[in-house]
Amino acid sequence: MIYLDNSATTQIDEAVLDAMMPWMREQYGNASSIYRLGRNARVAIEDARSEIAALINAHPAELIFTSGGTEANNLVLKSCCQESGLVNRIVTSSTEHHAILEPVLWLSEQGISTEILPVDGWGRVSIPDIVSVNQKSTLLSIMHANNETGVVNDLEAIRSAASESLMHSDAVQSFGKIPIDVQAWSLDFLTISAHKIHGPKGVGALFIRKGIDFKAHQQGGSQERNRRAGTEPVSLIVGFAVAARLATQNMQQRAEHMSMLTFLLRERLASLIENVHINTPTENALPNVLNISFPDAVSFDGDAILQGMDLRGVAVSNGSACVSGSLQPSHVLVAMNRSVAEARAAVRFSVSKDTTVGDVESAAAILAEVVRDLRAGSV
Ligand code: PLP
Repeated sequence: MIYLDNSATTQIDEAVLDAMMPWMREQYGNASSIYRLGRNARVAIEDARSEIAALINAHPAELIFTSGGTEANNLVLKSCCQESGLVNRIVTSSTEHHAILEPVLWLSEQGISTEILPVDGWGRVSIPDIVSVNQKSTLLSIMHANNETGVVNDLEAIRSAASESLMHSDAVQSFGKIPIDVQAWSLDFLTISAHKIHGPKGVGALFIRKGIDFKAHQQGGSQERNRRAGTEPVSLIVGFAVAARLATQNMQQRAEHMSMLTFLLRERLASLIENVHINTPTENALPNVLNISFPDAVSFDGDAILQGMDLRGVAVSNGSACVSGSLQPSHVLVAMNRSVAEARAAVRFSVSKDTTVGDVESAAAILAEVVRDLRAGSV
């Protein structure tokens, strides 16, 4: 199989697994227990916290562990509006992940004022739009990098334009791939996750700037400074720290390798397939993602592209959700003004440090074959 869906998830690194195993086998203590087994777990968690916090230029006390990006996003949005009572309005953008858009919709049904900003043809929010919503008692949530197209928002510029609001960013796709600095960008909240960077599934973190009176959304124990109840998954947290360390230490080298691959893919697809739309810009985008669509998608069965690729052994995605076996049009591409047919037939390639030149060359040739057959109506 050629796996080119690393934005969905990545293969766990052996070094990460090795670091995790003792915390499941021998060191199984509860980090809240006072005897040695518990204290060992506590030390492991606090070491991991310090390491991950440093990678985004945060203080360890500013990071709480969650079960992943989805929980961290839900937690920040719901707690800010409800338990913490910090804001009465949320502003976000139309291309956010469903882990932002769905809780925002739910909060609006609970009577919170919400606004969803439009994006340009590359999926970026405009600075004048940000200026127009810059108010106190507002939480602005703008993703760092988009999971479907890889486009990167300039968080520093957005923050300068929204100096009055609280600001959160969903950095699940960018963490470990491009630098993040919560201090330099004056962010209040930031979401990250482990499984997009060869770490384990089921663990993530939320950065909460020091001084913010943030209250838990779920009730239970007093873990994570009373901000997230529940016994900490020590092995997952240890694995997260190792994956984050490896991603950060090797960031430049991995980014160069992945950029070389997505550049090659871009060239190959443009030369092998007529009439393709490239939805990922060459500048200010993640190194590992390339999203394409077909302007003539209305004239062929776009849903069949991914199946055709799968049958030939290539795992890619169209980036959007699959509901009851049928592909929904990508809300990201629709927001970028693509037609519904085109937004249903998109292909997202996402490479990793382990992807080879042979992988992308084969995938490009296979996609060309699949699209040719579909356009000819022979499938
Ligand atoms: N936010 C973005 C941008 C994502 O791409 C994802 C996962 O695909 C999430 C949030 C959800 O993260 P998790 O899978 O850790 O819950």
